[in-house]
Amino acid sequence: MQAAACVWDSSMVECTSLPLPAWADDFNDTMGDFWSGEVIWNQPMAEYTTYRVGGPAEGMAFPCGLNEMALLIQGLRKMDLPWRVIGGGSNILVADEGLQGMTIVLNKGFSKISILREADNRVYVRAQAGCSLARFVSWCMEQGLSGLEFAAGIPGTVGGALRMNAGAWSSDISQVVTAVTIMDGKGYYCVKGRDEVDFSYRSWGEDQEKLAMEGVFLLRRADKGAVKRACRELIARRKLNQPYGKASCGSFFKNPSGIGESAGALIEQAGLKGAQVGNAGVSEKHGNFLLNKGGATAHEMVQLMQLVQSEVKEKFGVFLEPEVKLMGFRL
Ligand SMILES: Cc1cc2nc3c(=O)[nH]c(=O)nc-3n(C[C@H](O)[C@H](O)[C@H](O)COP(=O)(O)OP(=O)(O)OC[C@H]3O[C@@H](n4cnc5c(N)ncnc54)[C@H](O)[C@@H]3O)c2cc1C
Repeated sequence: MQAAACVWDSSMVECTSLPLPAWADDFNDTMGDFWSGEVIWNQPMAEYTTYRVGGPAEGMAFPCGLNEMALLIQGLRKMDLPWRVIGGGSNILVADEGLQGMTIVLNKGFSKISILREADNRVYVRAQAGCSLARFVSWCMEQGLSGLEFAAGIPGTVGGALRMNAGAWSSDISQVVTAVTIMDGKGYYCVKGRDEVDFSYRSWGEDQEKLAMEGVFLLRRADKGAVKRACRELIARRKLNQPYGKASCGSFFKNPSGIGESAGALIEQAGLKGAQVGNAGVSEKHGNFLLNKGGATAHEMVQLMQLVQSEVKEKFGVFLEPEVKLMGFRL
C-alpha cells in the first residue's frame, strides 16, 4: 500500500442560490492549504445521472489523479463527513432530497488511456476510472484492438464498469481486466491482480468504500474494420431490443439466479409492461427497463420499483433485487 502526500491550493465554486452546507467552512479550513481540486455546491444530481432525477448534492468534488483523490478522502475522513463516488451516473437512482456530504465524481480528471506493453498480438492497456467506457471502446476501434466489443453501447465510466462488473452478450469486464488499482477509505491504494478481485455477476465483491482507480486490460491486435463492425452490430442489436435514448439506467433488476427466466421476462409475464406511477413507467419494449418518461421524481421511480417487486413476488414467488444502486433514500 502507498500513502499519498502532496500540496495543493484551494478553489471553490458556489453553484446555486441554496445556502452552503454547514460543513463548507470546515472543509475550506481543513482542505484549503492542500487541495486545489474543483468543488461545487448544491448541484442537482439530476444533471449527473442518466435517470435525470435526484436532488442537490451538498458538495461535489472532481479530483484529478491518485494523490488528489487520496488527499480528498483523507480530509473527508478527518472531518467525519459522509461521501461516495460516482462515475457516469448510469446505474444510480438518487433521492429527490439529494445527497448529504461530498459526492466525488470521477470523470475527465481521471480519463487517460495508454498502452503499457505489447507482445505478439497481446496488448496491455491501462485506462483510468473516469474514462468513459464509450471513449475506451472508440479508442479500441481506432487502434484495432479487440476484447471490449461487448461493451459497445454500455454507458458510464471504466471505474463504474469495474465496480459493477458491467457486461453484455455473455461477456463482462472481469474477462478482459488483468489488474485493478484499488483505493481504500483511508486513501491508501494498491494494485490487485484480476484473480485477487472477487468478480461475480454485476459485482466486484469489494467493500462498499473501496474504489476502482484504474484498470489494466488485456486486448488483442485485430483488424480495425472487424472491430468496428462488431461494435456497430452490437449497438444495432441494443437499439432493436431496448428503449434506446430514453432516460433509464439500463436493466433495473438483476436476473434472478437458478430459475431460468430473466427479470425482464418475469416482469413481462406479470403483465407489467407499460405500467406507470406518475411519470415513471415500465418500458413497453423491454420489461426490465424502468423509465423516467419525462419529469418523474425519484419517489415515483422507487414506487414503480416496489410495484414491480411486489407483483413479481406475488405471481412467481421471486424477489427481484435491484441492479441499480439507490443513493440518499431512507427506505
Ligand atoms: C441505456 C443503458 C444501458 C445499459 N446497459 C448495460 C449493459 O448492457 N450491461 C451492464 O452491465 N450495465 C448496463 N447499464 C448500466 C451502467 O451503464 C453500468 O452499470 C455502468 O458500468 C455504470 O458505470 P457508471 O460510471 O455510470 O457508474 P455510476 O452509475 O456512477 O455508479 C454505479 C455504482 O458504482 C459505484 N462506482 C462508480 N465509480 C466507481 C469507482 N471508480 N470505484 C468504485 N465504485 C464506483 C457507485 O458508487 C455506484 O454504487 C446500462 C445503463 C444504461 C443507462
